[in-house]
Amino acid sequence: MDDNTGELSGLFAPERVAVVGATESEGSIGRAIVENLRADFAGETIPVNPNYDEVFGLACYPDLGSVPESSEIDLAVVVVPPTIAVEAVRDCGEAGVRNVVVITAGFGETGSEGASRERELTEVAEQYDLDLVGPNSLGVMSTTSGLNATFGPENALPGSISFMSQSGAFITAVLDWATDEGIGFKDVVSLGNKAVLDETDFVRAWDDDPDTNVILGYLEGVEDGGAFIDAAREASGDTPVVMVKSGRTEAGAQAVSSHTGTLAGSEQAYEAGLEQAGVLRVENVQELFDFAQILSGQPLPDSDDVAIVTNAGGPGVMTTDAVGDSRLSLASFSESTVEALSEAMPEEANVYNPIDAIGDADIDRFERALDLALGDENVGCAVVLSAPTAVIDFDDLARVITDLQADHGKPVAAVLMGGERTESAKEILREGGIPNYFDPARAVGSLDALSRYREISGREYESPEAFDVDRERARAVLSRAVERGDNRLGVEAMDLLDAYGISTPEGVIADQPEEAVAAAQNIDGDVVMKIVSPDILHKSDIGGVKVGVTNEDVYDAYEDLVTRARNYQPDAEILGVQVQEMVDLDAGTETIIGMNRDPQFGPLLLFGLGGIFVEILEDTETRVAPVSEREATEMVEGIRSAPLLRGARGREPADRDAIVESLQRLSQLVTDFPAILELDVNPLVAGPDGVQAVDVRLTVDTDELDSSDPNSADRPTEELDS
Ligand code: ADP
Ligand code: MG
Repeated sequence: MDDNTGELSGLFAPERVAVVGATESEGSIGRAIVENLRADFAGETIPVNPNYDEVFGLACYPDLGSVPESSEIDLAVVVVPPTIAVEAVRDCGEAGVRNVVVITAGFGETGSEGASRERELTEVAEQYDLDLVGPNSLGVMSTTSGLNATFGPENALPGSISFMSQSGAFITAVLDWATDEGIGFKDVVSLGNKAVLDETDFVRAWDDDPDTNVILGYLEGVEDGGAFIDAAREASGDTPVVMVKSGRTEAGAQAVSSHTGTLAGSEQAYEAGLEQAGVLRVENVQELFDFAQILSGQPLPDSDDVAIVTNAGGPGVMTTDAVGDSRLSLASFSESTVEALSEAMPEEANVYNPIDAIGDADIDRFERALDLALGDENVGCAVVLSAPTAVIDFDDLARVITDLQADHGKPVAAVLMGGERTESAKEILREGGIPNYFDPARAVGSLDALSRYREISGREYESPEAFDVDRERARAVLSRAVERGDNRLGVEAMDLLDAYGISTPEGVIADQPEEAVAAAQNIDGDVVMKIVSPDILHKSDIGGVKVGVTNEDVYDAYEDLVTRARNYQPDAEILGVQVQEMVDLDAGTETIIGMNRDPQFGPLLLFGLGGIFVEILEDTETRVAPVSEREATEMVEGIRSAPLLRGARGREPADRDAIVESLQRLSQLVTDFPAILELDVNPLVAGPDGVQAVDVRLTVDTDELDSSDPNSADRPTEELDS
């Protein structure tokens, strides 16, 4: 076996492939696969089917066990009916075949019977330690060995892009189009239902594969967000990972009762998770392949300064606009470049960027202009545009562009505009790894992707800090929810924050008015009083918060708060009234820190402008926890109102470091306790000298808390350390 393909080499570089369910029967999938394998595959194809002695002239065996040296079969492709598919996979395991592609459909995608069949399949795969693709997969391809173990209509062209897709239909469509465009692939896999191998496994495998230069994905969801982030981070240091935006997932639509739950849904998790993973996320299929092509064909730019060389004014302006919308900027040429251009160009030409060599520019003038531009130290990359003219031949121009790109080693995108006359020029450019577009915005978008990837590949990921916290105390607070048989906790759980070092004002929960009075006397100045009830989510909505209560008013305030709660909901469970120290809101800003647990990506942290208008403002940033100090800082700096925190209109700036640290501590809390499903600290009042969490609300998965062993509680934090 070729060990170039790393971990999943048996899957992509097999020497012997068995087709379980092979047949010549017209129109069947079993036939299509055997035919596709026979077309180009360099290795051996072995049909397996008890009904035949021969399939397309190849000896056919009744079962895998009967194949001579069956344990040396590298890959089995299973295309039998669903009712016998699990048994067929078990036979693979028994025969010693480690890699299996299950084409058969009729599993998890079809309802409860299929779902239980899929569970069985997973169990069998685990039992025999199989690397299994599918079920419900179109199959796999690897152009190195001509392997086409799919039932798609054609094989891919060879190339350095490896592509995974959750939709098989999308693969056939893409391959058909890519072949026309001259885009080639290394490996292609149709993930199917991802019963065993998922996107994370393929990111890892292709990261290790020297023949894969770009990893592309069309995903509708991510199985294990945390693992995916780790794998993609690792890969994206030297192999770009580009993913097309997926649809929203069903799983994301859980009932939420927190602000964070409302503001940080599955779409935010996906976006944050992919960004943190260093994935270039694209909006559509065109971008997916534009990025793939330029990333596999062109070097990364040293700078984001673009030179534009054109013979047409209008397209030059369009390109300049597109640069304005991107993270790139227009290069300003050095004096010597401007001088040299002035000498080489006619009077009417523009020698500043964009260089307009004007309509009568011949190939020599174009060449001189591009050579000077690419040679300028202030230029990182270039777009070359040309409209068809009588004096320029696109093939010549394509050759000039290709040669100069290679000479200067800077990335170039071409916009040779036109129809059929561009075809052969495109071919020449393609051989030089240079993409050609009709639309200048696409050329700029592709160069922009190179710049984004340069930033990603240079990232250094910091590990999250592990603060010294009181885990056992936090656990004790959470278990109150279990004891009470309610999964919601409110301000009675303030200790949870304290245990993790997030500062809270002094506060006491009183269940008698006299007790409230005594508590208020122990607190300096006026106090804030709040109703404490798991049935009241938003206390101020029902008049359940009184700010600035003087000592003499505490007794009446207590009774009033309880009466209001009873009026609002007669059977509300009332735990008492919180008497809390006043926090100076004038000097501070109300912010929110929170977490919502996403089914795919896990704990999603949120930071934003808080208070009672949080959902109206919707000014928030999200990241998948655990976050490093840098990520927490990016969250705080990333909101639109960040200038407010820096101190606008004569206000003192908020203590940013304290906010950042609170986010990191919250990150640690929700990582340590997977039982916390949602949590809001709203507001976290951010003053000039520190922060105060004045309110908290959370939902706990009481089963999860029950089932977790308290002695194992130290694990997650230690893992973070390493
Ligand atoms: P809820 O969000 O359930 O309505 P909060 O405890 O967040 O209840 O209180 C509502 C608002 O009251 C806060 O956004 C804040 O403006 C104000 N507030 C609450 N506690 C304090 C406090 N200790 N000091 C000053 N203002 C407070
Ligand atoms: Mg609140």
